[in-house]
Amino acid sequence: DLTNGGDLDWKKGPCRFCGVGCGVLIGVDKGKAVAVKGDPNSSVNKGLLCVKGYHQIMCIQAEDRLTHALVKKNGKYVQMPISEALDIVANKMKETMDTHGKDSVAMYTSGQSTIPEGYVASKLMKGAIGSNNLDCNARLCMASAVTGFLTSFGADEPMGCYEDIDHADYFITWGNNMAEMHPVLFSRMLEQKNRRGAKIIDFATRTTRSSMASNKSILFEPQTDLAVANAICYEIINHGWVNKYFVENHVNFNKGLTDMGYGLEDNYSFTDKPTQIDFEAYKDFLEDYTPEKVSKYSGVSVKDIKYLAEIYGNPNTKVVSYWCMGMNQHTRGTWINNLVYNIHLLTGKISQPGNGPFSLTGQPSACGTAREVGTFTHKLPHGVVTNAKDREMAAKIWKVPVERIPSKPTYHATEMFRAVDRGDIKFIWTQATNPLVSLPKTSRYRPGMQKDSCFVVVSDVFPTPTSDVADVILPASWHIEKGGLYGNSERRTQYWEQMVEGPGDTMPDAWMFIEVAKRMGYGELFPYSRENHVEEIFNEYRQFHEGAKHGMAPLEVLKKQSGAIWPYVNGKSTQWRFNAKYDPACTNDKDFHFYGKPDGRAVIWQRPYEPAPEIPDDEYPFWLNTGRVIEHWHTGSMTRRIPVLHKAVPHAYVELHPDDAERLGIVNGEKLKVTSRRGSCVLPAAINERGLPTKGQVFVPFFDENMLINDVTLDAFCPISKEPDYKKCAVKVEKV
Ligand code: SF4
Repeated sequence: DLTNGGDLDWKKGPCRFCGVGCGVLIGVDKGKAVAVKGDPNSSVNKGLLCVKGYHQIMCIQAEDRLTHALVKKNGKYVQMPISEALDIVANKMKETMDTHGKDSVAMYTSGQSTIPEGYVASKLMKGAIGSNNLDCNARLCMASAVTGFLTSFGADEPMGCYEDIDHADYFITWGNNMAEMHPVLFSRMLEQKNRRGAKIIDFATRTTRSSMASNKSILFEPQTDLAVANAICYEIINHGWVNKYFVENHVNFNKGLTDMGYGLEDNYSFTDKPTQIDFEAYKDFLEDYTPEKVSKYSGVSVKDIKYLAEIYGNPNTKVVSYWCMGMNQHTRGTWINNLVYNIHLLTGKISQPGNGPFSLTGQPSACGTAREVGTFTHKLPHGVVTNAKDREMAAKIWKVPVERIPSKPTYHATEMFRAVDRGDIKFIWTQATNPLVSLPKTSRYRPGMQKDSCFVVVSDVFPTPTSDVADVILPASWHIEKGGLYGNSERRTQYWEQMVEGPGDTMPDAWMFIEVAKRMGYGELFPYSRENHVEEIFNEYRQFHEGAKHGMAPLEVLKKQSGAIWPYVNGKSTQWRFNAKYDPACTNDKDFHFYGKPDGRAVIWQRPYEPAPEIPDDEYPFWLNTGRVIEHWHTGSMTRRIPVLHKAVPHAYVELHPDDAERLGIVNGEKLKVTSRRGSCVLPAAINERGLPTKGQVFVPFFDENMLINDVTLDAFCPISKEPDYKKCAVKVEKV
């Protein structure tokens, strides 16, 4: 009986799914999680949850839950006590390193791992083993946001917070279907729309549930967001809407276009050193981006470009720009992030309540675990491997010789799986992620993972196409079956305690790493206790994040409240970074201080429009765009096991514009084959249902492992961030 819930033991924690990081209360009865409600005291969601959040605990009851370790013997999986499976993993990892060197082993982790899990993965690979062969799936979803921040501001993660929603007059969403991807934030925006007339402008390549609820929907041709952003800047400058004081005091203008390598937070390691230019040179560059010129190829009317520019240019309006995968999964992902920052920097609409650019994340701890802890190949828990001081700090805290931490990054995500295919990586351990569904052009990477040349370990909660190729499958605890911390999109770190026991031999990923580390002879570096390892690891990790610019709230604080935003200074969250009114780290006696940059000035980058790497032609006449739906999360390994969500959207589909459907004689539900130069996928047609792609474009959600659209997508990536472009490639569509 859940009508009352008064007798339940309600435990607080963050939601398991998206990067919004809603506060959730889980009702526990007799050791079982039986109910969920939104936490009314959470400033993130104020009691709201979306359909995934409400039903999240139902996935742990799935019949095919991984409860015991499985080890492949003679082509068949044999159940085994987890301690014996961990012996096999440790022995194999050590034997591989002894035979082929430490760079023959790799780990591929996740923005769904907890902060302590990411921390021990980093410590094991970089501090104990001495290899930078560690990357994570956040490379596939927000690496371009990271490089965008670093190039524009010299510091990663958004400067604002969700409270911006309560102050903004306009929300402009750039290629971001927030109603489905960040639904609780979108609900908060709708509340402001209804209550005080705030306006939502949806700027995208297809109409979605977000555009349906917005004040205005503006559609553009794929990839031309680069040109439209420049046209907005052209208009701002040519109408005299530039915030001159802000630009003169806080901004530099740069150009420099090529790959910067991995030393991303070390702004001195650019392989192509940026050149500073003056305002006049930047203005001249924008002459190619008049609204009239851009309108011709972007599909956006001159009137709409001017309308967007007026919103940003009006000194009396407060504007927040939101984006996520539409801009990050882009072969020019870093550039388009820079371009939106340019708009906010020209107008000075930045880092104030209700004014700012805000890149959102998709995973619950993409910020906390991938960006902050450092599960990217180039990262350390503070700073980057290329920086000697950062290596020294890590060596001191980890108590390892500094020479052990390599100074060069190795493989980013797609490159790591290419190395598996080549036979360079002979042991790979993936945790809480499903690369054989989520990698772009999956067909390219599957054969490598199936080869005998690589020993594959997968720790996860459910079987997936990735665990299907594993030599050892380790049963992982689901998030409420272990304690942990996640970091959400607004720099909020949230703690939860273990709420229930997991079934069978399930084990937290962090403890699996520690057990393997001990078996490999690194035990003295991992002196944590099973009962308190979350606290012990987080307390050690906090040593990396002290001081006004990075400080993390202590665990005692995080246990009492629904998270805290870093930098946490003098007992307070810093909600708006770089603004001296709110941020104690600003020390240059000015109103703003972009202290991530050596001279404290943010950068407006000259970034041109470039066509996409593959564009439709006579043979492959459609653009393919991929993404998510509200009912399912990522590769669907959890949400497809939640009966109510599975029933709502039981399979993927291909969304077409009605004019294209009519031209090809296609009716709703008809089976279609979507084919690219890389592969094909058969799906039912969906015409004018949830979204409406522009003519000549199709959209397919990627959650369905039985209709694997990532066999079709392109694995070209942004040369700066190494994030692949899942949002556009050329396909043909045929009736089956
Ligand atoms: Fe969970 Fe995201 Fe939904 Fe909030 S919006 S309930 S974090 S899935």
